[in-house]
Amino acid sequence: MTDSLLPDGLHPQTLAVRQAIPRSQYGEHSEALYLTSSYVQPDAASAARRFANEEAGYTYSRTANPTVTSFEQRLAGLEGTECAIGTATGMAAISLMAFGLLRSGDHVVASRSLFGSTIKLLGTELARFGVETTFVAQTDLQEWKQAIRPGSTKLFFAETPTNPLTDVCDIAALAQLAHDAGALLAVDNSFLTPALQRAAALGADLVVHSGTKFLEGQGRVLAGAVCGPRAIVEEKLGAFIRSAGFNLSPFNAWVVLKGMETLFIRMREQSRNALALAQWLEQQPQVARVYYPGLASHPQHALAMRQQNGSGGAVLAFDVRGDSPETLRANAFHVIDQCRVISKTTNLGDTKTTISHPATTSHGRLSEAQRQAAGVGQGLVRISVGLEYPLDIQNDLLGGLMTLPVQSPPSP
Ligand SMILES: *Cc1c(COP(=O)(O)O)cnc(C)c1O
Repeated sequence: MTDSLLPDGLHPQTLAVRQAIPRSQYGEHSEALYLTSSYVQPDAASAARRFANEEAGYTYSRTANPTVTSFEQRLAGLEGTECAIGTATGMAAISLMAFGLLRSGDHVVASRSLFGSTIKLLGTELARFGVETTFVAQTDLQEWKQAIRPGSTKLFFAETPTNPLTDVCDIAALAQLAHDAGALLAVDNSFLTPALQRAAALGADLVVHSGTKFLEGQGRVLAGAVCGPRAIVEEKLGAFIRSAGFNLSPFNAWVVLKGMETLFIRMREQSRNALALAQWLEQQPQVARVYYPGLASHPQHALAMRQQNGSGGAVLAFDVRGDSPETLRANAFHVIDQCRVISKTTNLGDTKTTISHPATTSHGRLSEAQRQAAGVGQGLVRISVGLEYPLDIQNDLLGGLMTLPVQSPPSP
């Protein structure tokens, strides 16, 4: 591998561009795309040794593929973990981790504010296999602690900041709690990426990704990954994926690899745009509240700044004013529908700014009571801020805010 020629100690920003580019005999400068399902063997005896894992060499792409390997090595370099394993989607990464590590009778403690499909996977699907999950409040360490079942709690699972309300949990404190209980801590780092948050350095054992979001960065393909120590990722999850087949396709790995070259500059610029938009939204009389960790008004602002490299990330949410669920929803829909630049789509992490109404999309399957417990009201609007000129995004929102169908006076 030519990346062994790179000097040690390079900054992650350099690794994002340079790590893991093994060149073929043609000396191509851009990462090669190895779109192949199997590999020709020099002879039968070599094939036998490779299949027996006695000799290095590619055999079949469910076992390994050079383009996927490059993605895995680059992401591990950025996260500061020994290795990483690529998966077809973010949910495949979380499934791989759960099925590869847990068995019937094991117990998981997880935040109640996780990504919706993760809650469904842990709370419903895994329960069918005898793995129980206790869901606790994202920011209440005491609840995490009280949920521990000595001997059977094997995994803590957290995601920070949460979607859509941007609640931030203390990774180092959760790692301590998990380790004291003999459990592992896994953190979903899809929202911040290693450019802004390195969960392993804060004590997380495993870091999972939806590569679909900011790692890829331009809304083109689905991808995922689990990062962590060799003894878990390679030996346990690697062995499991070869049977389970949750693999990342080489084409998608290549798209994400190219996306990662611009990761640092995108995260920096999109977070800067998000902060400016959050500060502007806080001043609009039609906006009741803004949720963004970069704002001094955010309840975990100090923790977020410490943990997230001084940045709030690129996702924010806000409540429009209104005095009943119906008027709140009408006003939120109006703000969304008046947008002519911002895309009405639930994806996030794109260079294009996106807007969505969580209560009727990502959180639409919950009952009104569950939604209110989660703090997701009918007036809540989520925005994933992209790379457009900030004033154009403000003006796009201003059109809707200035013409709300139901005006209510600002509370004193
Ligand atoms: C989107 C997302 C996932 C799921 O990823 P897919 O690639 O869509 O499977 C998991 N966690 C978080 C935080 C996400 O935003």
